[in-house]
Amino acid sequence: MIIDLHNHTTRCNHASGTMEAYVQHAIAQNIDIFGFSDHAPMRFDEAYRMRFDEMEDYEKDVLYVKKKYADTISILLAYEVDFLEGYIDESVLKRDVDYLIGSVHYLGNWGFDNPEFIGEYQNQNIDEIWQRYFDAIESMAKSGLFDIVGHIDLMKVFNFLPHKDVRLIAHHAIKAIKKANMVIEINPAGLRKPALEQYPSAGLMELIAEHDIPISFGSDSHEPTHIGFSREIIHDFARSFGYKKCATFQNRERMLINF
Ligand SMILES: [Zn+2]
Ligand SMILES: [Zn+2]
Repeated sequence: MIIDLHNHTTRCNHASGTMEAYVQHAIAQNIDIFGFSDHAPMRFDEAYRMRFDEMEDYEKDVLYVKKKYADTISILLAYEVDFLEGYIDESVLKRDVDYLIGSVHYLGNWGFDNPEFIGEYQNQNIDEIWQRYFDAIESMAKSGLFDIVGHIDLMKVFNFLPHKDVRLIAHHAIKAIKKANMVIEINPAGLRKPALEQYPSAGLMELIAEHDIPISFGSDSHEPTHIGFSREIIHDFARSFGYKKCATFQNRERMLINF
């Protein structure tokens, strides 16, 4: 089975293509299970996400294509939710969805993966921001609110890498993810970015496999042609760590299937 659980829509204001175009591209790529997981609303950095009053229409649109294409592809409804202390909104968490991806895109008010704010790296101690990032991932796991960890080492997006071994930096976060029974996404979007590698790195993946944490796949598409990008590479990558199964969800319930 081929799954892709991380896909955006134009409602986030930084993606392109109609939802039907995403679905048709997914069908052309022989995807069996395709999840829309657009950026959930939040009262912070509101330009890069849907509004609260758009959630209902977003969900209706997903359910419409789910029904329309039900004979060809299985479509899931989800959100990618920012884990940012003080901004986590109950009204998002209680939506009736198949799964929630939890992601860290901000350290304090710094959107560190946004090219607009790349200059801020010059003012930071790299090892320190990596530790703060993984502390946030650890808190996210401990919150117990989400099913999947999105792009677990996003901090590397512009290739500002820590001097310290990332496995030491991430160890507590990985343990918390295991304890919270979460899934970690293998996401090829980093291959399209200056990082030039999938999330997670091989070093982290070793730690993830050691802890026997389930994985899922998500292309993080922001346009239809991103769907299926580098799929064989990330499947082979996962297999090289002994993985044969990946996770999918229905009504927040996890299933493991062969890939
Ligand atoms: Zn996005
Ligand atoms: Zn993200």
